[in-house]
Amino acid sequence: MASPSEATGARFIRVLLSGGTSGVVLEGETVRGWGADGRLEAEAAGPVALAAVGERIRWNGSRLLGDTLDAAGVPDLRIGNRKGTSRVRLIARKGELLAVAVEPLEAYVAAVVSREAPPRFHPEALAALAVAVRTYAAGAAARPRDPAYDVVATVEDQVFDGMDGVSQVFREAGDRTRGMVVRYRGELARTVYHSTCGGRTEDAVAVWGTDIPYLRAQFCDDCTDSPVYRWEYRMSDAEARRVAKALGVPPGKDLQIDVTGRTRTGRASRVRVSSAGVSRDLAGAEFRRAAGYAKVRSLKMEVVRVAGEWRFTGEGWGHGVGMCQYGANGMAMRGAGFREILARYYPGTEISGETP
Ligand SMILES: [Zn+2]
Repeated sequence: MASPSEATGARFIRVLLSGGTSGVVLEGETVRGWGADGRLEAEAAGPVALAAVGERIRWNGSRLLGDTLDAAGVPDLRIGNRKGTSRVRLIARKGELLAVAVEPLEAYVAAVVSREAPPRFHPEALAALAVAVRTYAAGAAARPRDPAYDVVATVEDQVFDGMDGVSQVFREAGDRTRGMVVRYRGELARTVYHSTCGGRTEDAVAVWGTDIPYLRAQFCDDCTDSPVYRWEYRMSDAEARRVAKALGVPPGKDLQIDVTGRTRTGRASRVRVSSAGVSRDLAGAEFRRAAGYAKVRSLKMEVVRVAGEWRFTGEGWGHGVGMCQYGANGMAMRGAGFREILARYYPGTEISGETP
């Protein structure tokens, strides 16, 4: 069966909700499942437990169905504590059960914007974000991560948490920009974004190793209202030791954490963790992942040891590449429209009206 994005030109997007396990539980008053040929295969009151058995799907501990099942629920369908989705495709693959939400692209755009930005953001900033989210999704649907899905539901792509609580302001941001995408020389742009740049965005080449002309560092003086424009995180000695251990450095009393390299925008490109004669020189991103993205919020940071703890002080939140969301909001508050915002953070690109 052709993927929805192939069949309809990215009017739908396939979002991996769950993988890496052999089973899932579908919640809903009534749960129905259709086979790959479109025939209703099973129906039961929820919850319904599904499990992969090799390349087949076992329904509620009894019947063995084919390798693909399209499920829908009344009034909607829930997996784990994720909020409702309209339709979920289940795929059994070598004993693993993949659960893939198949969402209309525009519904997905509104849902992602609702997770990425607060509802109090200016409508022009939300509209700019909706275009960036749609462009990213359209690019992903053109180059799927896997034959079975286009994107994952986490920060690795864009956070998708189902359709509940997607309030009107987010739907309007999608509706106002319906079908619009950002292009560079005719190709879909990689419209990455982050929360707050802290004063200057980052070069794509510094983060991903590839220079992208419209993703080069820009000065940004519009995100000063962000709660994380400047931040501090105090890491206890015990926590620093856990981080060191996770990075393969056996922590002793002489633990050292040093920034040993910086990008041209001042972000830590290399961090050295050393103790007891073992020293590891890491990519800054690897250190940040181990320390926790919500603790060491960006690599635009300094670290010093003060009074038995590690004091991280920094600027901004996120990788810093592309659109600064708080900067977009600051621009909108000054009167800029979404086109102007997109042109500032993705210079040299243009907006086209049609999703491919
Ligand atoms: Zn900024």
